[in-house]
Amino acid sequence: MSHTTDTDHNTALGFGLEHCATGVRNAKASEVRKVFAMSARPGMISFASGLPELGALPYDQLADIAAGLLRERGPEVMQYGASTGTPGLKEQILGLMRLEGIDNAAPDDVVVTTGSQNGLDLLTRILVDPGDVVLAESPSYSGALAVFTGAQAEVVHVPSDDQGLLPDELERTIARLQGQGRAIKFLYTIPSYQNPGGTMLSQERRDRVRQICADAHVLVAEDNPYGLLGFDGTPARAMRADDPNVVYLGSFSKMFAPGPRVGWTVLPSSLARPFGLQAEAAVLNPSVLTQEIVAAYLRDTDWQAVLEHYRALYARRAEAMVRGLQEHMPEGVTWNVPRGGFYCWLSLPEGVDSYELCLAAIDQGVVFVPGTAFYTDGRGHREARLSYCHPTEEKIAEGTRILGATLTSFLNR
Ligand code: PMP
Repeated sequence: MSHTTDTDHNTALGFGLEHCATGVRNAKASEVRKVFAMSARPGMISFASGLPELGALPYDQLADIAAGLLRERGPEVMQYGASTGTPGLKEQILGLMRLEGIDNAAPDDVVVTTGSQNGLDLLTRILVDPGDVVLAESPSYSGALAVFTGAQAEVVHVPSDDQGLLPDELERTIARLQGQGRAIKFLYTIPSYQNPGGTMLSQERRDRVRQICADAHVLVAEDNPYGLLGFDGTPARAMRADDPNVVYLGSFSKMFAPGPRVGWTVLPSSLARPFGLQAEAAVLNPSVLTQEIVAAYLRDTDWQAVLEHYRALYARRAEAMVRGLQEHMPEGVTWNVPRGGFYCWLSLPEGVDSYELCLAAIDQGVVFVPGTAFYTDGRGHREARLSYCHPTEEKIAEGTRILGATLTSFLNR
């Protein structure tokens, strides 16, 4: 009698990549994954990951919150819950979004998600058929691009400058694609402190982008994890505030912490139901325990003071990075001066490939993300994303010095 396990059986039949769905088979092995793996090496100065700084969270208070919830509401917070989120958290989310001018959302328009990454996935699932177009800034967030391409969307990058998305280019791109009969399912945009470009879209451009999309009947998906992380402390007005047809993706990962994995999506009322049903199909419901921890954090602690501390810290780190770049980068390198968020975007001189530079920098103890990760169309070889959110100012100074020296020797090869 043979004793094959399920695993043996599957291996014998050869259930490999060829067995996977088209979007998965076509996914490129991400260069960024390799870079992230290397960035975890001990002693490496990492400008690669967007890990928020969590050292100053009020851990004693959080411990009391969690203990109180378990003692007083244990069977409720450990149970399955409402598929679209707890009423207590939704109330806090609606209050939070008022800081960005949003007062046109009802609790039923809000779906709590397992991080905003889950929201991006759900939105794509309810809207995108293979071959549909999703518009994105150039460059755009690699994690969103992976979702879109996984669903076999064609991502079309709309040109941006150091102020963000270019409305005229958006208008031209939409007209061209619609002229070809292509279905544009949505525009994916990160208007505030963009990942990876660090750009902040002006109110004037926000209004034009909304108007262009409304006129062409293109849905806008506004991803806003960094909106409250402007160094001057004034949140920009969300695009959703001026149009209830804008989808808004929010996250507690950067303004609080990613550990609880809590984000949310606000939908036009007509899309809230299909989105909610997909959410239920994917995860049944987001964790009640972590939702209630986040709700209590917002309700019962001075979270604004914590955020203020982080804003000042990120501002100092951004300053350290810009100072380091000014001191150490050779001629021909340009970068944005961040006003919020986590990222600095570099353009490199002709003849430098950012992936090769990254490998050389890793040998010297510094890692960043090559620009190609932020495009689906093969661009980005002369660009790079440097995060300043996690390393200390001293490490940023040292890392930019090493990077400058590596690039200089690269240019003198
Ligand atoms: N959108 C953007 C622009 C991001 O930078 C990130 C995280 N890096 C996410 C969404 C996903 O964040 P989370 O799932 O932690 O909310």
